[in-house]
Amino acid sequence: MSTRGVAILGSTGSIGTTALRVLARQRDRFHVAALTAHSNAALLAEQVSAFAPEYVGLVTRNGRPHPEWAEGARCLVEASVRPGVDIVLNAVVGAAGLDATLAALGAGKRVALANKETLVVAGDLVAAAARAGGGEIVPVDSEHSAILQCIAGRPGQAVRRVILTASGGPFRTWDARRIAQATLEDALRHPTWSMGRKITVDSATLANKALEVLEAHFLFGLPYDRIDVVVHPQSVVHSMVEFVDGSVLAQMGQPSMELPVLYALTHPERVDDGGLPPFDPVAHSPLTFEPVRVDAFPCLGLGIAAGRAGGAAPAVFNAANEAAVGLFLDGRIRFGDIARAISDALDAHGDMPHDSLDALLAADAAARRHVGARFA
Ligand code: NAD
Ligand code: MG
Repeated sequence: MSTRGVAILGSTGSIGTTALRVLARQRDRFHVAALTAHSNAALLAEQVSAFAPEYVGLVTRNGRPHPEWAEGARCLVEASVRPGVDIVLNAVVGAAGLDATLAALGAGKRVALANKETLVVAGDLVAAAARAGGGEIVPVDSEHSAILQCIAGRPGQAVRRVILTASGGPFRTWDARRIAQATLEDALRHPTWSMGRKITVDSATLANKALEVLEAHFLFGLPYDRIDVVVHPQSVVHSMVEFVDGSVLAQMGQPSMELPVLYALTHPERVDDGGLPPFDPVAHSPLTFEPVRVDAFPCLGLGIAAGRAGGAAPAVFNAANEAAVGLFLDGRIRFGDIARAISDALDAHGDMPHDSLDALLAADAAARRHVGARFA
């Protein structure tokens, strides 16, 4: 039986390394056809010797250790459109993943999408690229994987609403004043998930949940008033779907990204994995749910408002957030400044033109410049 080729964009990151753990157990179904990373050439070299991909790309120009590796940002697209690649796992951080998603969908590939920023920046263009090229998106984000598994092919009219769960992050129980003063160390201490630094900060501000609401809107074609968020500190219920008859299906599992990564590769089939221990409901109990404290986490409301406004606003929200989180990670602004920077950039640039990829990228660039000039 021939195996399906997988390209991993961002192979040295949290999702990329998780995916390689999964793929190491699935060598009779999949092979690693391409790997790309932005940094950590030494880890990339180890991955290359373990998985022998046909194509390797390193985005940065310094520290290039091998003359046969492609370099520069275009390697993401090159890896994505190769004939031997059936599935592109996009695990890059930020809007930098957009071109590769568009190219892969245009070339008829399945995109296993961790890079949610792709959909937030240009959801309509991504859908158009999939239609034109015959590609499909299968989400890797655990909430959206859960929703896909619960909907299980039922028609959109059967769904009353989806309920995304949120862990609440490290500041779930902190008051607003204390949150505004939080340090980088505080923000990086996520209670249930171990992830890259940018998404960990996004999980502390709840900007991540805003990105996920927009991601759900584009993936499942749902209006914003049919997408809700509830805090679920144990991260065991990955999300829920309420159907028109009032029945609610939830997808559960222990908090591990291995399962949604595997499912994005095998959907709609399920395969025996052997990587996860049996689920023990007693060990995970009690499971609790709380309302989101929207006033304490302004990034959530800003993101959903940007989604509802549409046009360039989601791209501006995302770019301002990326820029502000970068400044926060560098110790140059305070935690509370992230929401201020986003709000300011949306006021200044949220209604820029949005009718083409170039227009959206211009809005993205304007938002980044705005945050750099006002807040750095
Ligand atoms: P990470 O920082 O751990 O890894 C990012 C990877 O992408 C690395 O290999 C890095 O070298 C590469 N990269 C970074 N910037 C790049 C650029 N400009 N061009 C090309 N490559 C670049 O991040 P992560 O936590 O693995 O997250 C990746 C994506 O998956 C993000 O969009 C995140 O929101 C999403 N996601 C992550 C998790 C998780 O558990 N980590 C869960 C759900 C969704
Ligand atoms: Mg998620």
